[in-house]
Amino acid sequence: MTVIRGATTLATDCKEEIALSVKEMLDEIFQSNQLKKEEVKAFLFSLTTDIHSFHPAKAAREAGYDFAPLFACIEPDIDGGLEKCIRLMLFTELTDERVVKHIYQKGAKILRKDISEIYNIALDGPAGSGKSTVAKILARDYNILYLDTGAMYRACGLKALREGIDPKDDEAVEKMLPYLDVKVEYKEGTQHTILDSEDVSTAIRENAVSMAASSISAHPAVRVKMVELQREIAKGISCVLDGRDIGSTVLPDAKFKFFITADSRVRATRRYNELKARGETVDFEKLHEEIVARDKQDSERAFSPLVCAKDAIVIDTSNMDIETVVATVKSAIQAKI
Ligand code: C5P
Repeated sequence: MTVIRGATTLATDCKEEIALSVKEMLDEIFQSNQLKKEEVKAFLFSLTTDIHSFHPAKAAREAGYDFAPLFACIEPDIDGGLEKCIRLMLFTELTDERVVKHIYQKGAKILRKDISEIYNIALDGPAGSGKSTVAKILARDYNILYLDTGAMYRACGLKALREGIDPKDDEAVEKMLPYLDVKVEYKEGTQHTILDSEDVSTAIRENAVSMAASSISAHPAVRVKMVELQREIAKGISCVLDGRDIGSTVLPDAKFKFFITADSRVRATRRYNELKARGETVDFEKLHEEIVARDKQDSERAFSPLVCAKDAIVIDTSNMDIETVVATVKSAIQAKI
C-alpha cells in the first residue's frame, strides 16, 4: 500500500470553490503520478472545522472520482494550523516502482512550528506602520516566536536617559556600552525586555524613550551588540521579527520579508491614539514632527539604516485595517511556501 498525500486551501467556504479545489487537487495528483483508476483503493479526506458548505467526498464523486470508496472526516482545531484546508490521503496499490509526488496546492504546505521547516518572517518599516500588531498576530496564528527588536533599542535609549547620557554623544555611549545589559525573556509567549535585571517592558513605551532609542540605535557598537543578541534568539527556531533592518541586515536569508509602511500622518494618528489610551497627553502636531524626524534619523544613519530589502514585499497600510494587512501578509506567505 502506498499513500499519496494532497492538500489545498480555500479562500472562501462556498460550494463552488470546494468542488473546484477538490477536482483540481485530484486532477493534479492523478496526472503527476500517472495514476490508473484500478490502482486506487480509497480516498480519505479531512477538513478543518471552518468548512461547512460542501462535502469533499461528494465533490470528488461529482468530479468523476467514484471508482473507489470515499470518506471524509473533520480534523480537530490545532493552534497555528492552516485555515479552510482540505487534506487527502489517497490509498493506492501501485503496479510498478514509481516515486510518488505529494501535491500541495494554494500554499497548503503546513506552516506549523512542530512539523514544518524553520523559517523567519522579517517585518521592517517606520514607526506606527502597524508592523508590531501584524507581527503579534502572525506569531499567534503560526504558533511561532515574536521578537520586537525595537524594544531592545528602546531599552538602550532608556539606559542613556536614566544615566543622564545624551544618546547622540558617541563618546559617552561608548563608555556606557560595557555596562549596557539588555536581555529578552519570554513568559507565556510574551516578550519581556530586561534592562540591568529590571523588567522595563512598560517603561520603554513612553514617548520620551522613542527618540532616545532612535538616536542611540545609530551607534554602530550598540547595533552590533543588539544584532548579535537578535540573531542568537532567532537561531534555530521559527520566528517573526519586526524592526528596521531585519530583512537587510539581521536575517538577510529570512524566507519571508515585508516592508510595512504608511503615510506619516496616519502613523502619527495611530501613535497618538495609542499614547492617549495609555493616559499620556501628547500634542498631535508635535508627535507628527517627532515621527518624521525619527524616520529621517532612522533612514539616514550611516550604519544599518531603515531600508526596504531588495526582496521584500512592500505593503502600504495607510488605507487598510489590521485584518486586511494580516490577510495580505498571510496570502503572500502561503503563495511562497
Ligand atoms: O519600533 P520601535 O518604534 O519600537 O523602535 C524604536 C527605535 O529603535 C526606532 O526608531 C529605531 O531607531 C530603532 N530600531 C532600529 N532597528 C531595529 C528596531 C528599532 O534601529 N531593528
